[in-house]
Amino acid sequence: MQLLKGKVALITGGTAGIGKAIACLYAEQGADVVILGTHPERSKQALQEIEACRADPVQKVSVFLVDVANAKGVDEVVEQILKVHGKVDILVNNAGITRDNLLMKMKEEDWDQVLDVNLKSVYNTCRALARSMLKAKAGCIINISSVIGLMGGAGQVNYAASKSGMIGFTKSLAKELATRGIRANCIAPGYIATQMTEVLPEAHKEAILSQIPMNRIGQPRDVAHVALFLASDLAGYITGQVVTVDGGMVM
Ligand code: NAP
Repeated sequence: MQLLKGKVALITGGTAGIGKAIACLYAEQGADVVILGTHPERSKQALQEIEACRADPVQKVSVFLVDVANAKGVDEVVEQILKVHGKVDILVNNAGITRDNLLMKMKEEDWDQVLDVNLKSVYNTCRALARSMLKAKAGCIINISSVIGLMGGAGQVNYAASKSGMIGFTKSLAKELATRGIRANCIAPGYIATQMTEVLPEAHKEAILSQIPMNRIGQPRDVAHVALFLASDLAGYITGQVVTVDGGMVM
């Protein structure tokens, strides 16, 4: 059984890591997939990988280059996507960055950039797609937050604020749209093996690992499985929730 047959899914930051794993799994499950990224080479490579995952070659896969922090750019791209694909049933706000530093050393531009890419982007995409989802009286929004948004992280006030902000945004939107057939939920991953965590110093990685009861780093696919469930009709009565995927870090 294909859980997403006939659906169109838009995944921001689908060119790498968790976003690419979600895009591949959605393609395996029958969805048409659109990814957004900024890196031309990475986008091309991701497009080929996602195409190779399709359950059926008639499924459309496309990539658009846009900075998700740019409201006008997102509006224009969403308009093009709706022209090409006709609709978007599932929106996954996954694009994210870190610019870690202690508050006393954190530059204003690092605060602004993280808030813009991680949080303002969610406003940009949801606002751009709300009209078409409302018209369809259906839709599913999944926002990729973080355990850091739940428990904080030293050296990460910008990142934590953006990820907590996503949770408040999601719960508010879930309340606004619940009667209109649109669900909104968050996933809060823990420590997942991607390029974002690869660059952490070894001592830091060891310290994080010691906080994980399951004693292993998560894989992008661990997060993708939950993103599949939340996007499917199996989660039809679930909205406004935060699901942690963290090997037991937060409980
Ligand atoms: P990643 O491997 O670094 O991938 C980040 C993705 O975001 C890339 O596809 C990148 O695309 C895209 N992106 C970054 N800035 C963008 C922008 N301005 N406009 C459009 N796309 C942009 O990161 P990841 O680890 O998979 O993280 C994915 C999400 O999960 C993030 O929101 C992150 O905060 C969250 N998360 C990750 C972990 C973890 O342990 N890895 C834990 C908790 C939460 P381009 O390179 O093409 O720009």
